[in-house]
Amino acid sequence: MKIKNGAEYMKSLRRLKPKIYYKGNRIEDVTRHPATAPHVRAAAMTYALAGKPEYRDLATATSHLTGRTISRFTHVHQNIEDLIKKIKLLRVLGQKTGTCFQRCVGFDGINAVYSVAYEIDQKYGTDYLKRFTSWLIEIQDENRMVVGAMTDPKGDRSKGPAQQPDPDQYLHVVERRSDGVVIRGAKLHMTGAVNSHDILVMPTTALDENSTDYAIVCAVPIDAPGITMIFGRQAGDDRRDKQEWIDSGKPRFGIVGGEAVIAFEDVFVPNERIFMNGETDFTGMLVYRFAAHHRANYGACKTGLMDVLTGAVSYLAQIQGAAKGSHIRDKVTEMIHLSETLYSSSVACSAEGVPTPSGAYMVDTMLANVCKQNVTRFHFEVARLATDIAGGFIATMPSQYDLKSEDVGHLVKKYFMGVSEIPVEDRIKIGRLIEAMTGGTAMVESMHGAGSPQAQRIMIFREGKLAEKIKLAKALAGIPQRKKAKKDS
Ligand SMILES: Cc1cc2nc3c(=O)[nH]c(=O)nc-3n(C[C@H](O)[C@H](O)[C@H](O)COP(=O)(O)OP(=O)(O)OC[C@H]3O[C@@H](n4cnc5c(N)ncnc54)[C@H](O)[C@@H]3O)c2cc1C
Ligand code: SF4
Repeated sequence: MKIKNGAEYMKSLRRLKPKIYYKGNRIEDVTRHPATAPHVRAAAMTYALAGKPEYRDLATATSHLTGRTISRFTHVHQNIEDLIKKIKLLRVLGQKTGTCFQRCVGFDGINAVYSVAYEIDQKYGTDYLKRFTSWLIEIQDENRMVVGAMTDPKGDRSKGPAQQPDPDQYLHVVERRSDGVVIRGAKLHMTGAVNSHDILVMPTTALDENSTDYAIVCAVPIDAPGITMIFGRQAGDDRRDKQEWIDSGKPRFGIVGGEAVIAFEDVFVPNERIFMNGETDFTGMLVYRFAAHHRANYGACKTGLMDVLTGAVSYLAQIQGAAKGSHIRDKVTEMIHLSETLYSSSVACSAEGVPTPSGAYMVDTMLANVCKQNVTRFHFEVARLATDIAGGFIATMPSQYDLKSEDVGHLVKKYFMGVSEIPVEDRIKIGRLIEAMTGGTAMVESMHGAGSPQAQRIMIFREGKLAEKIKLAKALAGIPQRKKAKKDS
């Protein structure tokens, strides 16, 4: 692996020249800018862990393409063990960063595109898998970070891509040349985009034959001509921008992944970097496989965050002298129960994984959807319980400047004291951490990341095998299975 640790990762980013804007100004160095550096540090943890003997087995894998040791984030799952190791790795990283460490979206994109490219080739005699694997070997050998770019702006949600008044609301091909294509449009909410090396572009939805120009899968360097990124704001970003470390709550890392708009203004993609081009009949399969892999993750990375939150409120309850209260213990128990329930479904959908025709392994899609659906509830319930235990001061406490002020610092220290043996600064720091992990931006990813709740409900109903379940019920009730019975479901 060319990039061996966090420092080398940051160095590699400084060699790139992506066009990034934040609050109207250009960011030249994402590794040092206060808005982006916390996210770079979170992603750097994925590189750092691979070098630590106790995590090496989780954080690295053996490439089935080259036999070389690679980062697990660039690996194509070869068996159930790979799927489970991924889940374990994500929980550890969630615990260590308390935020999104970003590399899984590209990872899941790699796995989805690999298996689908194989099946397109089987049907149409194309050579997408060959192109994809030669790109992937570069990614693996250099240990590059990939943005998984699926979500389009979508404009009017009641209309499909081809019906939008502005065709650029979904990324599409605007010109076809003998040596490649030119693409235009944008991808929104792009996790880790500003600190990645490459973009893996995928369609956002299943497409019909009227939308062939939208059925494009390809890889683009992050600093390719025509790419512009606009980095999004997060709750409390001004605190980080001003390096107010106590008030920011999580001084080293960001609130969520560090998302950006990626605009593609007529970007040329050479043929060797195109992995689907017009095969609309495979778009549903691609979106579905990507989504299932990504939904499986949430019961692991978010469980890592919930572990941190549970630890934070438990410590705060000690500082505030409430830890022995029976209802506090019960609420902490509920937080642990919900976290472990989520983790169970991540492990379960991995343990029930199956090989695709390409040999790459897929998670169980029903269980992966159930997992993500529960994240849209349990993480919020865990945050609610944390807020309950923490008390109102996480929303009302004075700033770090008042804490340190010669005029009023003594008042803050006096009236924000908990038990006498713990410094008030500890109570404020842990309160700010809870504020950062339960407020505004922090929770949105658990709702909409990997698809809004309804997207999972559609899949759960579709895969729910209702006809089989009706048969089971009829058999037990002694109702004959009539040949001409009305449709079961
Ligand atoms: C923090 C974060 C990180 C993310 N990272 C990535 C990433 O790295 N890569 C990536 O590709 N994507 C990423 N996403 C995007 C994510 O997958 C989308 O947010 C999600 O799919 C929902 O899409 P949307 O935000 O456009 O919301 P919408 O699709 O607009 O959904 C909003 C609501 O409208 C409903 N709705 C939508 N369409 C209709 C309709 N036609 N009729 C009725 N109701 C409808 C939905 O069910 C939902 O309740 C990220 C999102 C977040 C929040
Ligand atoms: S939300 Fe979780 S699974 Fe998605 S990229 Fe962030 S850490 Fe990975």
